[in-house]
Amino acid sequence: MIQFFQFPFLLCFVVTLGACGQQQSNKPTLSSSDSHTMKKSDEEWKQVLTPDQYYILREKGTEKPFSGKLLMNKEKGIYKCSACGNPLFTSDGKFDSDCGWPSFDREIQSGNIKTATDRSHGMIRTEIMCAKCGGHLGHIFNDGPTETGQRYCVNSISLEFVPENTGNSVKSKTIDYNKTAPIDTITLGGGCFWCVEAIYRELDGVLSVESGYAGGDIKNPTYEQVSSGTTKHAEVVQITFDERHTSIAEIIKVFFKVHDPTTLNQQGPDIGSQYRSVIFFRNENQKKVAQEIIDELQKEKVYKKHIVTVVEPFTIFYKAENYHQNYYQNNKEQPYCRMIIQPKLKEFEQVFSNQIKKDK
Ligand SMILES: [Zn+2]
Repeated sequence: MIQFFQFPFLLCFVVTLGACGQQQSNKPTLSSSDSHTMKKSDEEWKQVLTPDQYYILREKGTEKPFSGKLLMNKEKGIYKCSACGNPLFTSDGKFDSDCGWPSFDREIQSGNIKTATDRSHGMIRTEIMCAKCGGHLGHIFNDGPTETGQRYCVNSISLEFVPENTGNSVKSKTIDYNKTAPIDTITLGGGCFWCVEAIYRELDGVLSVESGYAGGDIKNPTYEQVSSGTTKHAEVVQITFDERHTSIAEIIKVFFKVHDPTTLNQQGPDIGSQYRSVIFFRNENQKKVAQEIIDELQKEKVYKKHIVTVVEPFTIFYKAENYHQNYYQNNKEQPYCRMIIQPKLKEFEQVFSNQIKKDK
């Protein structure tokens, strides 16, 4: 028996402001480090960091090139800030660089890393810092060898690596990796991705959320193409989560509370197949859990109408343009965010109060 709270749908729409996602936005600019959320005094940092960590993370030092233990690491997993645990990179973005420090071509999600201009040593460089604790990570350069063109050059000491398949469980020979690997990813379409992304970013156990497009039939679609409704893509969020702190069932229960799964190709006044309700599953477990929750919701008549959510296999995810990423946090003063997303987030926070990130 699944416990579902009854509360008004957190629908993603606005009449007077235009359909969700239709507004133009300036690309957000990354801000400097003074707004990080975890604040400790120098003395407090000295108590929790080793002298090497303190030198690099708090005094903006640099470790010797080719000395870091994560330089050659090729294991799959997540790289977190070694001071505060904030997820920063994944192994998917790591590449071999001859610069002598671990290098990545992208951060795990926008908003987890902040930048500042660094004029030390007679150079003008862009410093990168953990957005949560302000810890110095390294620098970013525009000479990356992959399609992003970026090279995040990071001190090993600033990072903590969490392998994807660790823990006692994987030592067992009978283990089903699909079920027990602590890190999993799912892609969900529930209308406007700004709103859905803002909500999942607050959920405990969620490591990253990206807004993008899935389920269509052209490569690398633009927002304008998807908005035209002709590419068959849905606006989606791609969620990577740690199963030690949440579960696929929780992720899907949240999904059914933050959008209306009974309106075909529509969320409020947002009409078109790009706003369809869809779950793109990556493995049998995700498919099974999604179907069980839908069946239970139908049986319990949680909704007056039939659920039209489509459960289909995941194929490919295209990340949306940068200005759509972390849209709410970067545009809080915008009328759409204040009038539509903020009230929905508040409502979500009340209903899921015990599942919200504690240090958000
Ligand atoms: Zn940090």
